[in-house]
Amino acid sequence: MRKIAIIGGGITGLATAFYLRQSAHAALEIALIESAPRLGGKIVSSHENGFVVECGPDSFITQKTAAIALCRDLGLGEQLIGSRSGKPTYVWDRGELHPIPEGMMLMAPTMMLPFLRSRLISWPGKLRMGMEMFLPRRDETGDESLASFTRRRLGEEALEKIAAPLMAGIFAADPEKLSLQSTFPMFLEMEKKYGSLLRGILKKKQASARGPVPSGPKSLPAPMFMTLRGGLQQLVDALAARLHLETIVLHRQVLGVTREHDRYQIELNDGSRIWADEVVFATPADITADLVRAIDPVLAFKLRAIRYVSTATVSLAFLRGDLKTPLNGAGFLVPHSAHRKITACSWSSQKFSNRAPDEFELVRVFIGGARAEALAEQGDDALIDLARQELRVLMGITAQPALARAYRWSKANPQYDVGHAARIAEIERIAAWHPGLHLAGAAYHGAGIPDCISSGMRTAMEIAKRLVDPQDTDGPAHVPTSDSLKENQSYDFHRHSSARCNFTQTDPSSRGPRLFQEPDARLLGDDPGLRPGLSSLSRRGRLHTAP
Ligand SMILES: Cc1cc2nc3c(=O)[nH]c(=O)nc-3n(C[C@H](O)[C@H](O)[C@H](O)COP(=O)(O)OP(=O)(O)OC[C@H]3O[C@@H](n4cnc5c(N)ncnc54)[C@H](O)[C@@H]3O)c2cc1C
Repeated sequence: MRKIAIIGGGITGLATAFYLRQSAHAALEIALIESAPRLGGKIVSSHENGFVVECGPDSFITQKTAAIALCRDLGLGEQLIGSRSGKPTYVWDRGELHPIPEGMMLMAPTMMLPFLRSRLISWPGKLRMGMEMFLPRRDETGDESLASFTRRRLGEEALEKIAAPLMAGIFAADPEKLSLQSTFPMFLEMEKKYGSLLRGILKKKQASARGPVPSGPKSLPAPMFMTLRGGLQQLVDALAARLHLETIVLHRQVLGVTREHDRYQIELNDGSRIWADEVVFATPADITADLVRAIDPVLAFKLRAIRYVSTATVSLAFLRGDLKTPLNGAGFLVPHSAHRKITACSWSSQKFSNRAPDEFELVRVFIGGARAEALAEQGDDALIDLARQELRVLMGITAQPALARAYRWSKANPQYDVGHAARIAEIERIAAWHPGLHLAGAAYHGAGIPDCISSGMRTAMEIAKRLVDPQDTDGPAHVPTSDSLKENQSYDFHRHSSARCNFTQTDPSSRGPRLFQEPDARLLGDDPGLRPGLSSLSRRGRLHTAP
């Protein structure tokens, strides 16, 4: 019987174990080793007096469907709740909260009227953004920082008031360092293909207007984010319940991994050892670097190059009657140029139902990130004081909170710096020298929960494939370019060798083997960095390209 060890019981490790159990035969022993006394890693939901307080992530984006699919596979479909529609997100600017205009595709407007009416961007700023249509495309290919791209195409104001605060909110990142290719490759593609973002958006709108008009009753647009009624911890608990108990080794830290006689030896902090044929490192990259050092110091060195930054969240509950202005929105972002001490505030009880008792509002303040890490490293009381002082200035809240909780996330957010895709391709090339060694998680191909689940699923597929055919150590399949694979299409594939893979377009409504559908994989583009999603393809299967 082959033994698989998974190190790390966050969502990545749990998803890997779950999909391994689903896809592989019984002759497989799995050990999931977690250093903490609980499972879930960064997913922590706390229930107090009718409040559901999310200490880490609070939801997942629906455009990437892996998390929704997993919830449904676990029987949690009925528990899914969407973010409330029509709730704007604001930006704090010149002493006021301004709604981000409706129809913004990150920093690019897709709807003219709301954009022109918005008071967030000045008229010179709007004019500069409009000029984007007439600017030449960049000659050089390859990666670029999000700040450089936005400044170049849309101007400083679009960067400062929209793109940068969003990036601080989503990635806790400094936009001057953040890789566009690894976060929003579609913008690079649009510039390359249409010469301009705005022209690209226009072309896509015209194409969809010319497309077939859907028959039947008009369905509501899907919510942008989803979570679970009882908090994201529900997903962790459901996964844990599905895995056999003998699979999980809790409260044991892995100290190091070595390879002997074609097997991996995993050393735990209680002095015991686990032997495995395959090992999945579902730990943050800096920890993985320490664990693989004895196997491959070069791999360890490369993994260390992935930077992490610290953040903190403070959740505060107020009696609704104590708020001078009623909350109406999902929350607000604070531009770096405002020189405030928080980066964002999410209005949790407005964003999702079931987060607070009726008479209360629950809000969550974000502190730290790449541009203000030190602020996130203070004690609980200092964090709570800081959050309250800032809300006093930014929202006029002077009331005593009914609940106040602070959570520190020390070096918890991986940074996708410029060159990230090439760095990861190199890491994966080196890792491929060690049969049975797998890297998974937020550091590589996306840091959101759906990305982590997809990463776990891909890893499970890779292992299942090797179980059927242990000689299958082919590297990445030949990857077609954007000319041969179209967006938002289903393809059946047959990989003949590492150099040849046939793709046949299929009817998207017909169901293929679930595990090979990767609606969120970014498979299009000519750059090798955009391609690693295909490296774990089985011999045959079906995939769905990104819209
Ligand atoms: C404050 C915050 C808010 C976020 N908000 C969102 C959001 O709203 N939506 C979203 O999609 N994403 C969000 N994210 C990102 C997302 O939560 C993470 O990327 C994801 O949960 C990472 O999962 P993981 O399993 O890869 O890693 P982790 O959750 O870090 O799990 C790794 C596990 O490995 C264990 N471990 C470490 N070392 C060892 C060892 N030596 N031996 C054994 N076990 C070990 C750890 O204890 C941990 O349980 C947020 C992140 C943070 C920090």
